[in-house]
Amino acid sequence: MTVVLRIAACVVACASFAISAVADAADEATIVFVGDVMLDDGPGRVVARGRDPFGPFAAHIDGADLRVANLECVVARGGTAEPDKPWTFRAHPRVLRPLARHFDAVSLANNHSGDYGPAAFAEMLGRLDRHRVAWFGGGHDLAEAHRARIVERHGLRIALLGYDEFFPRSFEAQPDTPGVAWSEDDQVVRDIAEARHAGADLVIPFMHWGWEHETTASARQRRLARLMIDAGADAVIGGHPHVVQDVEIHRGRPIVYSLGNFVFDGFDAPVNNTGWLLRLAVDREGVRRADVVVARIDRDGVPHPARDAAPCWERGEDAWTTCIPDRPRRSTRRR
Ligand SMILES: [Zn+2]
Repeated sequence: MTVVLRIAACVVACASFAISAVADAADEATIVFVGDVMLDDGPGRVVARGRDPFGPFAAHIDGADLRVANLECVVARGGTAEPDKPWTFRAHPRVLRPLARHFDAVSLANNHSGDYGPAAFAEMLGRLDRHRVAWFGGGHDLAEAHRARIVERHGLRIALLGYDEFFPRSFEAQPDTPGVAWSEDDQVVRDIAEARHAGADLVIPFMHWGWEHETTASARQRRLARLMIDAGADAVIGGHPHVVQDVEIHRGRPIVYSLGNFVFDGFDAPVNNTGWLLRLAVDREGVRRADVVVARIDRDGVPHPARDAAPCWERGEDAWTTCIPDRPRRSTRRR
């Protein structure tokens, strides 16, 4: 099929995606994932001025049944910056209001949630709870950090797991210390099985991995992604490299190695100021359809939707293709 035909086919397919996104079908749900959300520095100043850094993207986020981000900072008043780390991010708690307005769950498994130490990390868990933002990929202790967060939407029990494997490993939770989950292969396989045992219909690991500024996934990322799908994951989604990376299908299940930045300032190169919002339509069999809305991030670190061609996939296809996403539509959130 030519590219033109593929895009034409997708204009039709993606329009039907938008309709299904608001259909009140039982046993079917829509999920959006975004990459790194860093709410200190520029984005923090945006919030302090009374603006909503997610506002320009709200039409693409708010209609989904489940909305997930990687929270690439600690949100706390307490703690002390790690002395040896070149970049440390601590956001003011005022950022939680816009975050909670647009997101249901955040992964804490990354190389910045521990920037101000375990006490600040634990403070963040309490603040997220009070704002009713579910968190995963971290916890008050090691066991909790590895426990899937199971969220129910339209009768589907969706398990979210999060893992960091980018240093410092000192951010890892310990048996009695708050922190993040680290991805040791055997443990990841056990966590996926445990999530299934706990009644999950779908299991989706959200990874923090890969080399910064590499647009192609590493051999390590590929090996672990395939291992997770072989162990029962329905999709594997990742971030951290500050750029988007390639996508893959393994055993009929999608892998998106890096969503790139989403809310983040301080980068000059266009490639760092481009991210993806990933939309999944899921049912009891797993991911039925996936597509991407490209984000262009401005100098304040605020993302704006672009109508660029981007990866898309439907169950039964053995590879991703390229789509122009549907026109954004404002829809009522459904649970
Ligand atoms: Zn990172």
